[in-house]
This record gives sequence, structure tokens and C-alpha cells, in this order.
Amino acid sequence: MPDIKQITVALSRENLQLCTLPLQVNWYCPRCGAPRGDIMQTQIPMGRESLTVDFWVNPCGHHDNYRAMVSEAMTNGLNRRLQQVLNTYLKRGLVEDSYTG
Ligand SMILES: [Zn+2]
Repeated sequence: MPDIKQITVALSRENLQLCTLPLQVNWYCPRCGAPRGDIMQTQIPMGRESLTVDFWVNPCGHHDNYRAMVSEAMTNGLNRRLQQVLNTYLKRGLVEDSYTG
């Protein structure tokens, strides 16, 4: 029985301009297959506002970074509009080219 969760990650580039992206992912470590850790929220300050993103610590000790999560979400078949959303962010200069695969 797959355990699928929705997470919100941050995309950033050199000027620290940030945007967030919801992703659907299978909640298992891609390296060892163990369940990922509990999802928590944190705030990233951004000028007068702040962005809320999810983070987690995997009990197995393997670390997931946001970039890897985007790559995983792109290929797991659960995020049909992801490429389109990333293209929109790219056009607005909010993400690096490498995010568009
Ligand atoms: Zn692991």
C-alpha cells in the first residue's frame, strides 16, 4: 500500500528569491526504502513576509534535499502539472534552468 504525501518545498536561486511548490511524493526513502520522517513546517523569512515550507528528518539517516524531491516528483507519475508549473516559474525568473529537467 503506497504512502503518498503532499509536501511544500522551496525553490531558490542566487538572489534568494524564493517560491514554493507543492509536490506529491511516495513517502519512502529512495535509497533504502524505509519510511520518511514526520512532516513539520518551518518559515523562511522573505522581506516583510515569510514562506512556509515542509521539512522532515528521515529515521534511516538519508537526507532528502528539495532539489532531489523535485526530480523525484517529476518522474513518479503523481504530479502531472509539475513541468508546466516549473516552466511558469522559469519564465518569471524564479528558478534555475536545471529545474526544468
Ligand atoms: Zn534511507
